[in-house]
Amino acid sequence: MDALATSPAVAAHEDQERGPSHLAPDCAGQNFYALDRGLRELLPLYLTPEEFRDLEPHFDRLGALAGGRLDELARAADKHPPVLNPRDRFGRDEDWIDYHSSYREMETIAFSDFQFHAMSHRAGTLGMDRLLPAVAKYALQYLFVQAEFGLMCPISVTDTSIHLIRRFASQELKDYLLPKMLSGDVATMWKGTQFMTERAGGSDVGAIETVARYQDGEWRLSGDKWFCSHADADVALLLARPEGAASGTSGLALFALPRRLKNGRRNAYRIVRLKDKLGTRSMASGEILLEGAVAYLVGEVSSGLKQMMEQVNLSRLSHGVRAAAMMRRCVNEAMVCARSRQAFGNTIIEYPLLRRQLLKITLPAEQSLSMFLFAAHTMDRANAGEKEAETLLRILTPLLKFRACRDNIPVATGSMEVRGGNGYIEEWVHARLIRDAHVGVLWEGTSNINALDIITRAVGKSRAHRLLDAALGKLLDQATAIPAMFRDRLRETLSRALNLAERVAAEPRLEQDARTAASALYHVTSAILMTCEAAHPNTDARRALYARLVLEHRLGARDPLEPMATDWEREAAELIFTERQVSLSEVVPLLQA
Ligand SMILES: Cc1cc2nc3c(=O)[nH]c(=O)nc-3n(C[C@H](O)[C@H](O)[C@H](O)COP(=O)(O)OP(=O)(O)OC[C@H]3O[C@@H](n4cnc5c(N)ncnc54)[C@H](O)[C@@H]3O)c2cc1C
Repeated sequence: MDALATSPAVAAHEDQERGPSHLAPDCAGQNFYALDRGLRELLPLYLTPEEFRDLEPHFDRLGALAGGRLDELARAADKHPPVLNPRDRFGRDEDWIDYHSSYREMETIAFSDFQFHAMSHRAGTLGMDRLLPAVAKYALQYLFVQAEFGLMCPISVTDTSIHLIRRFASQELKDYLLPKMLSGDVATMWKGTQFMTERAGGSDVGAIETVARYQDGEWRLSGDKWFCSHADADVALLLARPEGAASGTSGLALFALPRRLKNGRRNAYRIVRLKDKLGTRSMASGEILLEGAVAYLVGEVSSGLKQMMEQVNLSRLSHGVRAAAMMRRCVNEAMVCARSRQAFGNTIIEYPLLRRQLLKITLPAEQSLSMFLFAAHTMDRANAGEKEAETLLRILTPLLKFRACRDNIPVATGSMEVRGGNGYIEEWVHARLIRDAHVGVLWEGTSNINALDIITRAVGKSRAHRLLDAALGKLLDQATAIPAMFRDRLRETLSRALNLAERVAAEPRLEQDARTAASALYHVTSAILMTCEAAHPNTDARRALYARLVLEHRLGARDPLEPMATDWEREAAELIFTERQVSLSEVVPLLQA
């Protein structure tokens, strides 16, 4: 670990402090909570005053860690990926994975110190005498991921595996697994994961070929799981087809697969190899061969996929949060550079073209922040028993996953470009942010699969868009500080986006428009949320300017052969790039210009 303390990143930062340098600083050493005006101001809108008072010290502490020690560890873990040992020195198939000490230290922060995996399931994490609200959990994930993305997969999938076991497993299985999985002792706890994808199908889950045989009073699984993140987890939830069950998704059952049997011996499955991945390099994804492995049935044998989809949806929300987090890191890195780098005698933030670039990366980051907090709050309401919130969450989750993960890719590249050539060099964080960004459009459903989920299921079957309409309409009614003309414009755009989604859902020949319709719903929802947030007295009013920019650039038509620059946008950029709080009276004229 000593090597980390003098790593090039730290040395570069110290050099910045010692004296003038030609290179712009990065965010190393900053507190990512203190830096994040949007998060600090929006959290009190979604947490009770008591929750915010009790939890803010933890946000602040994690923000400092994310900009400090965690960031250093993440850089090291990315450079020292996990290594699979398929056999021991006696030739026994005792496969195990070696991790760098930096990864292990991050695990301790996540599973022992903050106990992310347990905060939704038992009291006592972070000194709280109750479960943490989803808003707080996802805000903490958002801070953590600004430093480390790879480990959030094992953290989140342990959390979601616990959810599934609590909800669907028999009492006996709960008693066996939950105490181990809910432990805060990283050395002995059992972590979870989820293996679904096989060579025959990732999107097409019904093509799964893994077979489950019931023999001598227990289930045994045989098959080949092709993408297994957190490959050496202690418990994997997976889908398999019981012998004789129907083909397709209806014949799949859900199982919990322990890595060790009750007698302490290795279960009959092997990690055959690890994937050499573009990103998420700190975390081990592998291929797993099931050779008659013992597994426990979870829930009804005929409800496998239905149950598994609960885990998928929870993961999708977390993926949206992770994309929001990485975009925030990109914005912070770009801003700190733009405010300091000199070119042609000026700081580069003063140049109109550079400002435009900054807006293009800021806007998706701010949209995703508003979207994930609203979705997490909706989850809190659903957990409190509100049926309508449950349906609303049904559409918010894939919307966030689909669009935020997609936006993360150009945002990461845009942030690199603001830094210039150094952004392309692996010593700086941008290369890792670009590599990590891409997996968001693949796992837990590709962009197409999420867009189809939004349009055909959430809109077409669940009619969840009607609840979205009602919820957003109510928010607009309450935001009386915002001019009626602008709110009417938002209402009209919402109505058109809903209409498009309904048409695409109803007419199979329009399926190719599913992504366009889903994007429109995301953009208008985020614009309404940001407008209504700006109407709150203690919130920075520039969020309403973001909303107008979304309307103009994401939802409006424009002639590509006409100049885009407008006076209102130039004035908006002036306000957006000031470092002070912006008041509503400054913003209102620009909403109507
Ligand atoms: C690093 C990494 C880690 C992973 N970890 C895990 C894990 O831990 N557990 C797990 O279960 N899986 C995991 N996955 C697998 C991931 O979830 C799948 O790769 C993903 O769901 C896509 O499946 P596929 O690769 O089979 O592609 P396919 O399903 O073959 O898709 C190929 C293309 O076809 C498109 N497509 C498919 N169907 C349609 C349709 N109806 N309409 C339009 N387009 C369509 C897709 O959008 C995609 O562009 C991981 C993947 C990666 C890259």
